Amino acid sequence: FFANVELVPGDPILGLTEAYNADARATKVNLGVGIYYDEAGRIPVLDAVREVEQRLAAEAKPRGYLPIDGLPDYTRATRELLFGAESPLLAAGRVATTQTIGGSGALRTGAELLRKTLPHATIAISNPSWENHRAVFGAVGFDVVDYTYFDPATHGVDFAGMLADLRSLEPGTVVLLHACCHNPTGADLTDAQWRQVIEVLAERDLFPFIDMAYQGFDRGIDEDAAAVRLMAESGISEFVVASSYSKSFSLYGERVGALTVVSATAEQSRAVQSQIKRLVRANHSSPSNHGAALVAGVLGSAELRARWEAELGQMRERIHALRAGLVEQLAEHGAPEFAFIQDQAGMFSYSGLSRAQVERLRDEFGIYAVGTGRICVAALSLGNLGYVAKAVAAVSRG
Ligand code: PMP
Repeated sequence: FFANVELVPGDPILGLTEAYNADARATKVNLGVGIYYDEAGRIPVLDAVREVEQRLAAEAKPRGYLPIDGLPDYTRATRELLFGAESPLLAAGRVATTQTIGGSGALRTGAELLRKTLPHATIAISNPSWENHRAVFGAVGFDVVDYTYFDPATHGVDFAGMLADLRSLEPGTVVLLHACCHNPTGADLTDAQWRQVIEVLAERDLFPFIDMAYQGFDRGIDEDAAAVRLMAESGISEFVVASSYSKSFSLYGERVGALTVVSATAEQSRAVQSQIKRLVRANHSSPSNHGAALVAGVLGSAELRARWEAELGQMRERIHALRAGLVEQLAEHGAPEFAFIQDQAGMFSYSGLSRAQVERLRDEFGIYAVGTGRICVAALSLGNLGYVAKAVAAVSRG
């Protein structure tokens, strides 16, 4: 049966980590990952999470199945975090949230839902975008097209190009939008630009699909949700949000995400949710409990929530400090042209380094980055900033 099965290449970013692990140099640095590391180079376990985990272990509750659409305390808290607890959409019963296997599972389930319900299966993603967007939507039969997004000259958003491309899409096209901390570029829209994008989406009858994998990683929980909040306030009555707690709770391996669908009426919302439950039932039947129980435990307690917000704030501030420090050290090493890194948001920066420069960083300095020049700022530390800045300055001069 498998004699003719072809070997396909592995994920290039995961391959990078394998090469990094095999590198014997003590000064090696892995900037290819998509994970936040603390100053000691570890993935943090947040205090608020640890406290809930200890309580859950002590309680040792029976391990029954969760409902198909997940832990109710988790999905309710997620809706409130996305839209704000006072959102009229929530009160109107127009928002249905399903617990998913990470943000990736939310994208996949959302893609399957839209594949069945929208007039034609085309999705426009930013150029560039997180590579898995193309894979996930392609896997369920979408035609995946690009819209202009990043401007290599300014290292920011080519906003005029983006609007022009959105305007040229067929009505009914799904448009995938990164709410904040754009992966891979770090280039985000301002709130004023979001308003303009929303106007074009409404005018052209495009279907918004917001991916929010980094809420709280740039400006704050509410501020980073501006795209969702502005969309909710606009005349657009139907849209989808895929969200993830992988980064904001540092719970990568627990696979905690959610698919949230806004419908025009409460009745339609119930029908949509029934369809989603059918999709989940045929995929994995019901989600797993532990990660969701951790998140719900934190968000359901005023004290733990405040502690989580403070810890999230510390991660965010540390990323800002690393960006500022990197820019400062690069300037000191004669490379002031990297000042844009400070204007970019979230874990990633499209550094502008070429593939050849990225290879030199790896070969000469043991610094690993993605071939596109994407670096993970959140994987730097104050201890290795100087080394990385010196190396980047050296390869960018050569
Ligand atoms: N969307 C984007 C833009 C991401 O960067 C990621 C994670 N790297 C995801 C979705 C998926 O998140 P998760 O790991 O929770 O599946």
